[in-house]
Amino acid sequence: MKKKKPVRTCVGCEVEGDKRALVRIVRTPEGTVELDPTGRKNGRGAYVCSYDCLETVLRRGRLERALRAPLSPEDKERLREAWQTLFPEAQAGSSR
Ligand SMILES: [Zn+2]
Repeated sequence: MKKKKPVRTCVGCEVEGDKRALVRIVRTPEGTVELDPTGRKNGRGAYVCSYDCLETVLRRGRLERALRAPLSPEDKERLREAWQTLFPEAQAGSSR
């Protein structure tokens, strides 16, 4: 199969989507891991389609594998918070 345009695949549910439907998570050259909603940051990236999938990949260590970077509990917490800042409506189960 030829690769024509890059297809992004969610590391959680493996759904394929176009670049805009998935949110990029990047490991920056500085070694930090962050959400990259613009998709333009340098570094190794992985994509997730929803907060559920973010949770899944964080819990199962799939994100670490995809990014080839160990994630501390603080890193994971930061990603969750960043996601909830980006998509406040996705905040499930939080009573604040
Ligand atoms: Zn997904």
